[in-house]
Amino acid sequence: MPSEMTLDAAVRAFPEIPRSALLKADLLRYGFQFGQVQVGSRHYHHHDERGQKGGVAAQAHVQGSVRLPDGTTVFMAHNPASPYTILSDPDGGPPSLWVSGTDEKVCGLSTGPRLGWTSSRTKRDTPMASIFTPSLGGGCGPLALFLLRHCEFVVDNEECRFCSWVRMGKSREMRPDVDDMRETLGAIWDEQRSIGYLAFSGGSLFDRTREADAFLTYMSAVHETGVKLPATVAAIQALDAPDSQRLKDAGFDYACYSMEVWAEELWKEIVPGKTRSVGRAHWMKCLTDAVKIFGEGRVLCNFVAGVETAVPGLYDSPEAAADSTLEGMKWCCENGIYPRYAVWIVQGGARLSDQKPAPLEYYARLMVGRQQLFQDYPLSVPATDCVHCLTQSFEADLARLDPGRYAIGEAGRHPWEHAHPMAHGTGGSSLAER
Ligand code: SF4
Repeated sequence: MPSEMTLDAAVRAFPEIPRSALLKADLLRYGFQFGQVQVGSRHYHHHDERGQKGGVAAQAHVQGSVRLPDGTTVFMAHNPASPYTILSDPDGGPPSLWVSGTDEKVCGLSTGPRLGWTSSRTKRDTPMASIFTPSLGGGCGPLALFLLRHCEFVVDNEECRFCSWVRMGKSREMRPDVDDMRETLGAIWDEQRSIGYLAFSGGSLFDRTREADAFLTYMSAVHETGVKLPATVAAIQALDAPDSQRLKDAGFDYACYSMEVWAEELWKEIVPGKTRSVGRAHWMKCLTDAVKIFGEGRVLCNFVAGVETAVPGLYDSPEAAADSTLEGMKWCCENGIYPRYAVWIVQGGARLSDQKPAPLEYYARLMVGRQQLFQDYPLSVPATDCVHCLTQSFEADLARLDPGRYAIGEAGRHPWEHAHPMAHGTGGSSLAER
């Protein structure tokens, strides 16, 4: 695939796109080097290689987000080879972003949530961060709950090629402990004062009904805590209608059945496990059946934006690869399915960990094309999404930074700024100093 456009060249080539959105794309695809700086929260690796092996840098166990000067929120993970470095201010002020190994400052930064509870344990000595996880550094304190800490696709090397969950050693199916959950949710609420959403997720099983059973067990346990829940999402393999109905009856607000990639040719290359387990055509049927159960806009489908460019010879240009995914998003909209995307982050431990990230031209095409779909299809934005919690995509940033051009259709009606209250511990409050 031709071309490797620099950020400055992209800013010149795409004057209709706010510079912060392009910088965010560059930061997501490359990650950050952390200098000696206090950012993010301690991250418990439930399921990836770095959680299983010693000898990795301490920064690998930190995750969170930073905000650019105009408020754009960016997911932040450590990459020792990144061209961007976060450095602390020697006078104790907020950190700033630099071009690695140079004295070229890119911009100042403010920090996203820095949470104390992820280093705490329950009375039963369970690490709280092993029960709930801060979801993608979202500024409103969204949580993820990983309930199947293994994926059967790994057995025959059929794991999704972008996934780093695959070197996780012994399979473990967790059982929820209601007391641990209640105590942890209490500690989270005391500290954050906001939980943007709660996403349930985990590895895949070839028996999808059994996979759904685990989601129901966990939802029941979370309900038993008596804690008032925010919007809940089940991120799970595509289920047949009876199992989708069970999710709905259990109280899930949204079902997320992620195709990850759109084109038929990409399915066997990128998601071989999903290809064998369900298959693309049947996955799409499960999605449309689920809309009849959850309602329009309440079934989500995520795409790993950029991973298409890793398949040699398939697309002539980054724009052609983006157009393929936009075609998939359009199909979703036509069928009442809300399309989401997250920038492909090249992860250690994934099959594609030696690939170059997708070019900026790809993201320029995709982010603008996706925004146009808000105009073309009246599908409301999920309650999970806000400008502080969408740390790996650009829908909210574009709508906020250039509303005349990008807050169109449903993107103009959604309260991107105020969908959730901001969490305490965000942006240098007293909790952030913990
Ligand atoms: S289904 Fe794919 S993305 Fe999910 S855990 Fe398994 S390999 Fe990873």
